[in-house]
Amino acid sequence: MIPGSPAFRQVPAWQSALAGAITDPAELLAAVGLGTEWLPAAQAAARLFPLRVPRGFAARMHHGDPHDPLLRQVLPLAEECLVVDGFGDDPVGDLSAMAAPGVLHKYRGRILLTVTGACAVHCRYCFRRHFPYTDANPAADHWSRALDYILRDDSITEIILSGGDPLSLSDRRLADLARRLEGIAHLRRLRVHTRLPIVLPERVTDELLGWLGATRLKTVMVVHANHANEIDASVGDALARLKRAGVALLNQSVLLRGVNDEADALIALSEKLFQAGVLPYYLHLLDKVRGAAHFGVNESEAAHLMAELNARLPGYLAPRLVREEPGAPGKVPVT
Ligand SMILES: *Cc1c(COP(=O)(O)O)cnc(C)c1O
Ligand code: SF4
Repeated sequence: MIPGSPAFRQVPAWQSALAGAITDPAELLAAVGLGTEWLPAAQAAARLFPLRVPRGFAARMHHGDPHDPLLRQVLPLAEECLVVDGFGDDPVGDLSAMAAPGVLHKYRGRILLTVTGACAVHCRYCFRRHFPYTDANPAADHWSRALDYILRDDSITEIILSGGDPLSLSDRRLADLARRLEGIAHLRRLRVHTRLPIVLPERVTDELLGWLGATRLKTVMVVHANHANEIDASVGDALARLKRAGVALLNQSVLLRGVNDEADALIALSEKLFQAGVLPYYLHLLDKVRGAAHFGVNESEAAHLMAELNARLPGYLAPRLVREEPGAPGKVPVT
């Protein structure tokens, strides 16, 4: 074999971990020590939105606890099959905001690029669980239409890579996109919305730090953790490496019934994030997507929780409670 030839090149460890995620409900239940009474519902709900959990994330769950806050985020439940009024397929109006393939231009000065539909983990509450990614995937034309759109509008100063999870793409492709973006003079910031450093910290490779550190654009990473138990030593290490590479680190969470709907849980999360060098950014009310109604916390309860956080935390450790409204010029504060 010739060194450097494609067959000789090794698959990065994170890509093997990504490919080796748990996708079979029976395997997840066995891994966390739960009985088969959960299986029929999990199998039925997984037909609506497939199960996917990286093994390292499953290892952070408490054995034998069906209410574990990490397990609740990924275990398909019978409730997902219920039809609930007001919970639809495109709750945040993304399809109508598509300015070019994969380009969501809803807010001033920044656009969201959905660069892939793939995620390392399938969060049961995800508002993109019914999103038709194959129509929205800009990579098919090597991003040229998205880049043209950005080039033509010099009011855009920030690009947000989103998905799916943008870090499920290879560093070669991401570095190529970053290089092309930094050639657009009016851009200042490159933001990455990703859950991978939390659910699969092996993803934070030298190659990733390399292109993030090399661009002239200011880099921001918004990770997504909902509970303090998600942040173990390996995640802390990955976040520290990102921080050392000069990436500003923020976190967004979703307020989820049965996961983090108590002040103590949200405070523990903020504390743990800050220890890992991450500032809490947004706490989102659940988007009303079909199959996720059981995760809902109503606005008045959410506002009460937020008041308690504001009373017990320094201002910089209290996230902003927001909801998304189709047509609004930004996230809408909930008070
Ligand atoms: C959330 C979101 C953003 C980012 O909003 P910020 O308030 O800047 O974090 C941008 N575009 C779209 C379409 C969004 O949904
Ligand atoms: S990682 Fe983000 S986009 Fe992917 S399923 Fe979870 S919430 Fe949705």
